[in-house]
Amino acid sequence: MAKKAIAATLDGAVMTAEGLSYKGVILEPIVEQCEGCERVIPFEDAKYCPAYAQPARKWAHGVCNFATHVRAGVDKEGKVKVNPLKASKRAARGR
Ligand code: SF4
Repeated sequence: MAKKAIAATLDGAVMTAEGLSYKGVILEPIVEQCEGCERVIPFEDAKYCPAYAQPARKWAHGVCNFATHVRAGVDKEGKVKVNPLKASKRAARGR
């Protein structure tokens, strides 16, 4: 099965005084929770996310819905839990 490609380049991105400019949007560096996500792309000495320009804001409201490494779940008490995705599950989905 063909592997599903995730946009994996920041071609055309330019570092500006405000931050990394990509397709007219200023990208902010990823946050700690993003570590392990397949969408993370290193650029110069920082890492960025082409899927979401402001990763910190994305995570401020719970688990990032674009993340490839974790998934939100709800435990018995109704609290949202972050579950790391098992590699085997990822492979089964063709990622
Ligand atoms: S998709 Fe979400 S978790 Fe992954 S790098 Fe972007 S903001 Fe972070």
